[in-house]
Amino acid sequence: MRRLMIAGNWKMNAASDTTAAWLDAVVAVNAPERDLVVCPPFPYLGQVVAGLEQSQLQVGAQNCASEDGGAYTGEVSVAMLADVGCQYVIVGHSERRALYAESNELVLAKTRRVLTAGLKAIVCVGETLSERQAGHAEQVVGQQLSLLLSELNTTEWQAVIIAYEPVWAIGTGETATPEQAQAVHHFIRSQLAARDVGLAEATQILYGGSVKADNARELFSQPDIDGGLVGGASLDADQFLKICTA
Ligand code: PEP
Repeated sequence: MRRLMIAGNWKMNAASDTTAAWLDAVVAVNAPERDLVVCPPFPYLGQVVAGLEQSQLQVGAQNCASEDGGAYTGEVSVAMLADVGCQYVIVGHSERRALYAESNELVLAKTRRVLTAGLKAIVCVGETLSERQAGHAEQVVGQQLSLLLSELNTTEWQAVIIAYEPVWAIGTGETATPEQAQAVHHFIRSQLAARDVGLAEATQILYGGSVKADNARELFSQPDIDGGLVGGASLDADQFLKICTA
């Protein structure tokens, strides 16, 4: 049985005082059968790791460099993330693909770095509204997955989580229906199964796109949805706690 996972992505939203209040509110979360993760911006990782020392919640970063280290001004390496206590890294979020031109090749390179450092990669895939309207959702998601499937070995895949995030549902308040989400999750699992049936059974596939306390339960009860990557609602400690236990 796959464990349910809930990961919060704060994006570029945080301050020391709001982070401290959020930590106080969530530190005692108790859902031992689930994997719970929060991904704050880089400057707050230390504060969040320290604040969650006694908590079930684990910590992730929202991005990493594709290089090991050196003359890359402004970049943050996976070794640094591991050193400050991160266990996960989000890779290939649609905002990074769209705003920072991250290609499938770069997403693969970053994923490799994450796995080599012994961390887990939450790799995001998802189609835009026009791609969905043109009937190309599965084709787009299939292309985004294809390099990962051909290049990563089965051992590496054990530390990969896929997040299906339809771009049209991110931050828009418009959620994919449980049926729409389940259909793409099923497609993703079938792509994994074509490579290795065991891999398909074991890989956690999260849904992301306007997940809220009031729609989480129905989404998470779909057979191929193993939890959620939660943006806006993860900033609100009460909402996040409700989603974590939905
Ligand atoms: C996200 O940024 O990964 C996301 C799913 O955002 P939201 O929940 O706000 O749609």
